[in-house]
Amino acid sequence: IAVYGKGGIGKSTTSCNISIALARRGKKVLQIGCDPKHDSTFTLTGFLIPTIIDTLQVKDYHYEDVWPEDVIYKGYGGVDCVEAGGPPAGAGCGGYVVGETVKLLKELNAFYEYDIILFDVLGDVVCGGFAAPLNYADYCIIITDNGFDALFAANRISASVREKSNTHPLRLAGLVGNRTSERDLIDKYVESCPMPVLEVLPLVEDIRISRVKGKTLFEMAEYQENLNYVCDFYLNIAD
Ligand code: ADP
Ligand code: MG
Repeated sequence: IAVYGKGGIGKSTTSCNISIALARRGKKVLQIGCDPKHDSTFTLTGFLIPTIIDTLQVKDYHYEDVWPEDVIYKGYGGVDCVEAGGPPAGAGCGGYVVGETVKLLKELNAFYEYDIILFDVLGDVVCGGFAAPLNYADYCIIITDNGFDALFAANRISASVREKSNTHPLRLAGLVGNRTSERDLIDKYVESCPMPVLEVLPLVEDIRISRVKGKTLFEMAEYQENLNYVCDFYLNIAD
């Protein structure tokens, strides 16, 4: 599953919580952050894990010297975590990073150990490079709010999915509305570009706090039962 959406819309937050929701449903899950920000899995692990690109640099790009435990970290709820990292600012190519990540994980035989692999990909599909995770995905989920900018990005992402689906069986799973209690623009958009709306989550102050604490909503809900209703949104998306 590749998760896309405008920058800052809540892809990483939503991805981490969907990953745990899927794990709660009995799936073995790997989450791969594909963003130079390398903070995709932060709420799962509680710290910024080393990226694949950092590790490869340290090992002088000798793939045979990299062990699974160098790059795959255990996160909350049994979710495994990888951060691809990014090219140096102003140089290099995002697609190269995604390619190296997939190559290394294949070499480690990691892909066959999971029921679900979730790619959390940066921002809009700005180039073929960062659209690369779609080449490996069966489904794409788009995160949006009820505003023009995020829906504009969503529209470009769905166009990319259509493009890629010409060459392999990629499907658009649907939209997740995030940080919004209104959904009129989302509904108007799916009227002209039909796709499922998987869930619409409101702005929840505790979701913002969860990022600062480095914990997912599921972990916070262990101590704050009043947060179970938020977990239910993510379980619903997983189902
Ligand atoms: P992205 O990965 O798309 O760049 P993040 O997941 O990092 O976005 O989210 C950006 C910020 O928005 C974070 O501080 C996060 O806690 C906050 N956030 C995301 N979803 C919600 C929500 N439903 N309610 C409140 N804050 C949210
Ligand atoms: Mg992110």
